[in-house]
Amino acid sequence: MEIEVNLVPPEKRGSLPADPLNIGFGTVFTDHMFTMVYSDGHWHDARIGPYGPLALDPAALVLHYGQGIFEGMKAYRRGENVFLFRPEKNIERLNASARRMVMPEIDPEFGLYSIKRLVSIERDWIPQLPGTSLYIRPTMIATEARLGVKPAKEFLYYVILSPVGPYFKGGFNPVKVFVSDKYVRAVRGGVGAAKTIGNYAASLLGTQEAIRLGYSQVLWLDAIERKYIEECGTMNVFVKFDDELATTPLDGAILPGITRDSVIHMARDWGLTVNERKISIDELIEGVRSGKVEEVFGTGTAAIIAPIGELYYKGQAYVVGDGQVGELTRRLYDTLTGIQSGEIEDPYGWVVRVE
Ligand SMILES: *Cc1c(COP(=O)(O)O)cnc(C)c1O
Repeated sequence: MEIEVNLVPPEKRGSLPADPLNIGFGTVFTDHMFTMVYSDGHWHDARIGPYGPLALDPAALVLHYGQGIFEGMKAYRRGENVFLFRPEKNIERLNASARRMVMPEIDPEFGLYSIKRLVSIERDWIPQLPGTSLYIRPTMIATEARLGVKPAKEFLYYVILSPVGPYFKGGFNPVKVFVSDKYVRAVRGGVGAAKTIGNYAASLLGTQEAIRLGYSQVLWLDAIERKYIEECGTMNVFVKFDDELATTPLDGAILPGITRDSVIHMARDWGLTVNERKISIDELIEGVRSGKVEEVFGTGTAAIIAPIGELYYKGQAYVVGDGQVGELTRRLYDTLTGIQSGEIEDPYGWVVRVE
């Protein structure tokens, strides 16, 4: 399929804010977006055009029943070089989410090609300072206008871009996490493994209550027993016990993170024992108390690695280690962000250059 390109005239384009370190996350958008329409059983009308509001029928199925999915990835720029990180994994996961939500898949090669074209056009929007990048948000929504609860037959796929500043404003510092035994994020058999829009609405109330108590994220427990740790906010979670690095297995309730997969790969490559296994909240808290748990951290595209310095569970706060960033956490962060931005040689073939 050809992409029809309709560029905004240069004098009407915006530009990257002067201080990219203070943009925050997802507040500024670039001049163009990619769109593609699904109807009559196929994708068509692939376009790159001006960024702007969508015209949606008020009965569009996404607005009523949540048939919508998205992805999150980043482009990095250093000098004239622009890099994506394992982008084919995001497209694979978008298609896995689509299957779960009864939505059409996109052609993986065309999906990657369209993202590269868009990022290439918007390369001057990519900030270059350490910790900054261009966040890429591929999104698919059910646009068919009908109020019956049935899978839609018409969809819109679009990609928007947003320059983002560093996740950690005051430096790479640990976050404080509230363990919720009241609310759950997802349940096995449900849609927790899909990056589907309703999961995020479901997490808002628990997160708001955690923030009111001075915590920045919720550590979610499994929905059935409220016994095993699952995810932290919108991040996967890792625990370092003595010589073992453990993380929750992909059992259908958690999102299969690409950062998670990369961390497992790197840690094994460095000779650590990495186990994908259930970690009970009791084992975690007991390990934090005894010192057996040395480090806890979250992983995801937004933060890459987020050190966890404190856990609050059943009325009590527990400091992890000495409350500072652990050695392995820092090494993973430095290496992964170095590979992603092209500053460290990529031994795994993960980095994809955008021409
Ligand atoms: C996107 C996401 C992650 C992280 O996935 P990455 O591919 O590493 O960015 C983890 N958990 C949830 C719930 C997510 O939405």
